[in-house]
Amino acid sequence: MSSDLVLVTGVSGFLAGHVVRDLLGAGYRVRGSVRDARKGGHVRKVLEAHGADTSGLSFVTLDLMSDGGWQEAMAGVDYLVHTASPFVTHIPKDEGEIIRPAVEGTRRALAAALGTGVKRMVVTSSEVAVARGHGKGLGRPLTEADWSDVEAPDMTPYFKSKTLAEREAWAIMERAGRRDDLTVVNPGFILGPLLDADMGTSGAIIHKMMAGKLPGSPDLNFTIVDVRDVAALHVRAMTDPGAFGHRVLASSGSVGMRDIALALAEAFPAYAGKLPTRRLPAFLVRLVGLFDADARASVRSIGLRFEMEHGLAEEMLGRPLIGWREAATAMAQTLLDQQLV
Ligand code: NAP
Repeated sequence: MSSDLVLVTGVSGFLAGHVVRDLLGAGYRVRGSVRDARKGGHVRKVLEAHGADTSGLSFVTLDLMSDGGWQEAMAGVDYLVHTASPFVTHIPKDEGEIIRPAVEGTRRALAAALGTGVKRMVVTSSEVAVARGHGKGLGRPLTEADWSDVEAPDMTPYFKSKTLAEREAWAIMERAGRRDDLTVVNPGFILGPLLDADMGTSGAIIHKMMAGKLPGSPDLNFTIVDVRDVAALHVRAMTDPGAFGHRVLASSGSVGMRDIALALAEAFPAYAGKLPTRRLPAFLVRLVGLFDADARASVRSIGLRFEMEHGLAEEMLGRPLIGWREAATAMAQTLLDQQLV
């Protein structure tokens, strides 16, 4: 057990809730950042409902787009876990709406941490900073040496935001001569149990599937990882020397949307008729994309499949990653438990 203090940014988020639960369970004290001070009380209640002892949890208000409060927030902090970033699937008119908070927030978080003696930093990046912009793929499993190409035409503003923010993180740490004090976690598409009724962007996709809102499954593939694994990797990354200075790819590779629908139909037969188990031709997705922003964004990923090298993640966990079926089923189960479908 460690009573070190960890600053976790974006604690109102899906992933961060699990990270904080694990940290508190391991005895750490957690200072969680929210951009709206009113969210702290809700986060505490949700964690307590899941059995967490929140006596070591406090909150600070920080906005990725504002300089205010970062230095003060880092006072006495041993570890930074920076998860906050806009996570959206739509394509805004101004891509800067997504890119600026991601990049500037990373800069603010790391600069403040470096300036106040924080020991180690863990930053949440994404598979989209590794695996995108390579056309139809590289024909081999992706490794931590691979970077998405921000100039490529299939990069969405979100993909660019994660790639540029992660590049910024490494550049800052290198300039400070402290590369090995950073670990970046690059999760695939995160599923697994929700802690509350806020389904977020991850939950919204499984929700659309369960609620019968998709007419079928296009040839879209997801690199699924379970939120419990991603949270555990963030916690291990703080102290596992094997992860220092590395990008931890967290997912084994692509799973077809239709395979997910079929697995959910098997696990939840009452929803089989609603799940998109039929194939949807690409031209229909393009058609739907004319009026649906999510479909428009996903058109760029149709047909893309890849494998990801995930040995370091499994070494850190000391076991295989949780499988995609379990992750998808666990998320669907919590959507049902929360009466969201
Ligand atoms: P989420 O539930 O939407 O959480 C995002 C968090 O970032 C929220 O706490 C949000 O605060 C905060 N945030 C966004 N913009 C902010 C701003 N301008 N200032 C301060 N805080 C801001 O998303 P998530 O799924 O947990 O994602 C967490 C991290 O994992 C992100 O870095 C995301 O890119 C990364 N990731 C997610 C997935 C996935 O499939 N979920 C996959 C790969 C990587 P509010 O509650 O106030 O909005």
